[in-house]
Amino acid sequence: MDYMEAAWFLTSLSPEMKGWAAHPMAGYFKKSIMYSGKELFYTIFDILNDHTLIGELPKEIISVRFEFIDSETAGETHVFHTNSGEIERFEILISPEFCIDAARTRDVILHELVHCCACLYFPSDKEIHGQSFHDIANLIGCAFPTVPTPIAYHEWGTTTSLE
Ligand SMILES: [Zn+2]
Repeated sequence: MDYMEAAWFLTSLSPEMKGWAAHPMAGYFKKSIMYSGKELFYTIFDILNDHTLIGELPKEIISVRFEFIDSETAGETHVFHTNSGEIERFEILISPEFCIDAARTRDVILHELVHCCACLYFPSDKEIHGQSFHDIANLIGCAFPTVPTPIAYHEWGTTTSLE
């Protein structure tokens, strides 16, 4: 996907796209997000690698599963280390309970991938949503200034409606 198409695609996943022609692939994900979350994950993954300055995210060490986490958590990234303390792999969990549409799923995927980048590129920053998290989120935001900003958290309050 070239840059213009990627920006259109990411925008089309957002509810703010109302009234505009949606990218056809976004239409597909909107209709089928229950079954196509993983496919959306790797589509966004490739877009970030191709069109942002975050560096090459290593696909072979990042896995994703869509499964219920707990009643408040939309997404979670687990980091596994080798005995010598090197990063071995990441496991991203995304809750279908919360990610009920393509827009939320997009936001949670982006959020969790920012966590992966922060761990990979700023391993000494132990703060989960600290400076490195914000710097990387900003890099992605600056790469796509016309795309509606993802909601930058991964936990919805218990009072958030799921409808
Ligand atoms: Zn987070």
